[in-house]
Amino acid sequence: MNTFVYGIGKSLYINLTNRCTNRCDFCLRREGDGVGGYYLWLDREPDAQDVLDLIPDPSVWQEIVFCGYGEPMLRLDTLLAIASALRKRDPGCRIRINTNGQANLYYGGNVVPRLKGWIDTVSISLNAPDAQSYQKMCHSDFGAKAFDGMLDFTRECVKLLPEVILSVVDVLSPEEIEKCRKIARDTGAEFRVREFIDSSDSDS
Ligand code: SF4
Repeated sequence: MNTFVYGIGKSLYINLTNRCTNRCDFCLRREGDGVGGYYLWLDREPDAQDVLDLIPDPSVWQEIVFCGYGEPMLRLDTLLAIASALRKRDPGCRIRINTNGQANLYYGGNVVPRLKGWIDTVSISLNAPDAQSYQKMCHSDFGAKAFDGMLDFTRECVKLLPEVILSVVDVLSPEEIEKCRKIARDTGAEFRVREFIDSSDSDS
């Protein structure tokens, strides 16, 4: 059975796709079948109505998160159809996207303006302090362009969205983490260090 939505704590997570433009060394999908006891491999991707039928009252959740098992921005039209409908059901609901930040590379243009008004928070995986280390760890389809493309996406988000976070996993050295903190500061994004295994934020 497909798990299109799943709750962990006070957050509801939406699983739109198993596809991704990265193949990160630390991705939970390499060795697992899901998170939090939920099986997250899909045999089909949901459409907006599939997901909306499962969230009749978004106000019962503290936050709605577009998350893994894959890169949710690859389903941008569906993601926005869901986000806008949830907003109509509960104008106060908080909506976050966890992403690898490569959407503008994927779509070949700036899609961030489409998020304005629907998305409160974008959490982007920085993962590494430079393009070479990023590609070595994340194996992006976009190769050496991926890192700078992700940072450009971050800057566009900072211009338009209420909350933008760049994050790293705590397997980096203290020196690398400090370099990443500076990169985040230079983009204007907040900076967070995530635990290596974080079952609720395992998408990116
Ligand atoms: S960790 Fe995220 S960005 Fe990396 S391969 Fe997995 S789903 Fe894609």
